[in-house]
Amino acid sequence: MTDSKHVFFFGNGSADGASSMKNELGGKGANLAEMTNLGLPVPAGFTIDTASCVHYFENNGHINGLREQVSVAMSALEDAMGKRFGDSADPLLVSVRSGGRVSMPGMMDTVLNLGLNDEAVQGLARGGARFAWDSYRRFIQMYSDVVLGIHLKHFEDALHALKEARGAAVDTELSAQDMQGLVATYKRIVQSKLGRPFPTDPTEQLWGAIDAVFGSWNNHHAIEYRRQNGISDEWGTAVNVQAMVYGNMGDDCATGVAFTRDPGTGEKRFFGEYLINAQGEDVVAGIRTPLPLNGEGSNTLEQVMPEIYAQLEELRHKLEGHYRDMQDLEFTIQQGRLFMLQTRNGKRTAAAAIRIAVDMVAEGSIDETTAVQRVTAEQVEAMLHSRLDPSADKDIVAEGLGASPGAACGQLVFTADDAVAWSEAGKAVILARPETSPEDIAGMGVAEGIVTARGGATSHAAVVARGMGKTCVAGVGSLQIDTEAKTARIGDLVLNEGDTVTLEGTEGWVINGSVAMIDPELGDDFKQVMEWADKLRRLGVRTNADTPHDAQVARDFGAEGIGLCRTEHMFFDEERIRAVREMILSSNITERRAALAKILPMQRDDFIGIFRAMRDLPVTIRLLDPPLHEFLPHHRAELGPIAEQMGVSVDVLAARVEGLQESNPMLGHRGCRLAITFPEIAEMQTEAIVSAACHLVNEEGFTIVPEIMIPLVGLAEELRILRAVVIETADRVIAASGAKLDYLVGTMIELPRAALTADEVGQHADFFSFGTNDLTQTTFGLSRDDAGKFLPDYIKAGILAADPFATIDPAVGQLVELATQKGRSVRSDLKVGICGEHGGDPASVAFCHGAGLDYVSCSPYRVPVARMAAAHAALKDGDI
Ligand code: PEP
Ligand code: MG
Repeated sequence: MTDSKHVFFFGNGSADGASSMKNELGGKGANLAEMTNLGLPVPAGFTIDTASCVHYFENNGHINGLREQVSVAMSALEDAMGKRFGDSADPLLVSVRSGGRVSMPGMMDTVLNLGLNDEAVQGLARGGARFAWDSYRRFIQMYSDVVLGIHLKHFEDALHALKEARGAAVDTELSAQDMQGLVATYKRIVQSKLGRPFPTDPTEQLWGAIDAVFGSWNNHHAIEYRRQNGISDEWGTAVNVQAMVYGNMGDDCATGVAFTRDPGTGEKRFFGEYLINAQGEDVVAGIRTPLPLNGEGSNTLEQVMPEIYAQLEELRHKLEGHYRDMQDLEFTIQQGRLFMLQTRNGKRTAAAAIRIAVDMVAEGSIDETTAVQRVTAEQVEAMLHSRLDPSADKDIVAEGLGASPGAACGQLVFTADDAVAWSEAGKAVILARPETSPEDIAGMGVAEGIVTARGGATSHAAVVARGMGKTCVAGVGSLQIDTEAKTARIGDLVLNEGDTVTLEGTEGWVINGSVAMIDPELGDDFKQVMEWADKLRRLGVRTNADTPHDAQVARDFGAEGIGLCRTEHMFFDEERIRAVREMILSSNITERRAALAKILPMQRDDFIGIFRAMRDLPVTIRLLDPPLHEFLPHHRAELGPIAEQMGVSVDVLAARVEGLQESNPMLGHRGCRLAITFPEIAEMQTEAIVSAACHLVNEEGFTIVPEIMIPLVGLAEELRILRAVVIETADRVIAASGAKLDYLVGTMIELPRAALTADEVGQHADFFSFGTNDLTQTTFGLSRDDAGKFLPDYIKAGILAADPFATIDPAVGQLVELATQKGRSVRSDLKVGICGEHGGDPASVAFCHGAGLDYVSCSPYRVPVARMAAAHAALKDGDI
């Protein structure tokens, strides 16, 4: 490393750095520089850049020229403050703090009051002996912990023993002499632990602290925090060395934090707290209750120190005007003088983010594009669901996969029938199942939330719950459900039917008892920011909906059509599932046609309802794709009514069920394979779709172009054959109805073979829709239904960065890109979308934007999330 500039000074009204230099100086250092340049009262100091941290690790702690640059900056700091380091009359003391590009709260180290020794403490004592000795003992304690590696406990024990001896409840009851005695005790502890004395040379102390702060970049919890938050290990931390100011020198001193707007609601009001005669760490430790800055109560800062408050108000406007965003400020008042220690963009709730963004556009301080950038897709998601009150206590007893967001509370039931009965009796219920299947639908529909012991992000429970907008925690491995005994066991805890539990569907928590909730509320601000997002995005956003109700919900959320109507989901209703089972269990074409004839009118009515809800918008309907294990009866008792209908004995039917059992139903006789064997199924469905459309065209003047989609195609030949079946039936129905109707026939791309041969498949398709649930399953060779058991281990161990069933995996992504390109090579106007669960995941939406897809399709409650994610993807891409 050459001796390039690594130390950036700030003080006396000017700074070497600026807020634009966050990468070099870290967020804290860049903003301290910016505030100094703005003329704010910032204690002088300097920032050692993040590159030094990187070199520190590369060169075993040696950085060319850094010592000289720090020494020059320390002299400048002494001049700016009019004090000398280690001076026995009026010593300069400094804080040494970390500061990465992105805030990593509490993860790295800090040392305060650095520069104290037996001489300097005499000088500091001019401001009060107790204050000086207290600062000294705090310094030894902090430095020993952070730099010398001596456990805090030894110092805390000594403090505790002294308090007991004095009968003191809190530190503040100890005298100056007590503190002085503690300093001596602390020094003895250091000597006995290290075999050498506590360092007295301030410069040696300073380098010890700088080394420790650099080192803390790689402490265990900082590494873990970076991993969880996607922060690069390569960035390094800056080190901020700054003159100390004191909020604990007496009653004309204070320390506090403030937000330029309310971070909870976004309301434009100055919001914050302060503590008289305290240091920042006292506020954080929560030993004393801070007072509000302003408002109705007594002892507000506005009342106690009106001039300082007025000054803070002025700085509030100045900073917000400058940064054009809500700021989170830290300040200290030392003997009636205000000092600013930090400003940064304030963290805020989802509701506050939206309100602040919209208000700031109205105030003229930001434009609409910036407003959209200020609201994350995750915040949009949070707005759509109930959530736990963050201040409420919660007893988390088990964790699973956060499969469908929101929070739900109710009494435990273990069967769908009980869920229905209890809810009819006016009770809120949580349905707990080992895993769900179509006959649980009615129970899922009435439950507040669903919890399963097995299954992952694309399991039946997860997909259906998301579609319904219900909270779902799936694959809770520690949960042992006994549906006969109606109990759920988690370790030693036994939960019985009727016990109250709460689910949190983002984190995947199962909570014993009830927890206070906050209801969702979508106001005008939400609508406004979503409209701005729509103007920016290129990707279309459709929905996966199987009922007119879901279609309407999605439309209200801004869906621009249906990208996937799973026709088998239309048979989850108890009456209908019987007809489907009849069809599946038919032994010959006559029986099958009889069963299909029962299904046809139901399907036609469903499609009429869906086309109506989506009037003028495109609707893609997928032909039947029932993984057989989801549809076959599970118990002999269920066979009776079906056997009766079909005029066969229960034994005969049981034998047919047995014969249809598959070892790997997800890879079995499903999707187009079923229609290849039984083309009459595709014929019936085509007839239902096309006759529904013709009816609406003829009777209600609709303009509809139904999109008929063939699932699980692996071979171009499969699609060629089934396309012909669809076209022949559709044309016959259209001719008979006399309607003028166009339609499209396309395919899902859900198998690697289809993706790799998309130029062949594309010759028979008007559109492609990527079924990334199955494409992920088949690319990885990972069972969608079983992966929930072990995928969390992969993620915990860092083998996978994310659940590939939730966020598209790069290899699956390559197949999507390849198939899109190959498909368009044979058909340049090929419409391409995605309808796997990834269509509502922000990172996957960004991928789809980059891959040049035309639209994403997701469950109704994720439509606004996808709209926002698509806008962000377009902005990031520089499309706008
Ligand atoms: C898919 O596989 O991604 C898909 C949408 O189909 P399903 O989830 O119904 O298998
Ligand atoms: Mg599929």
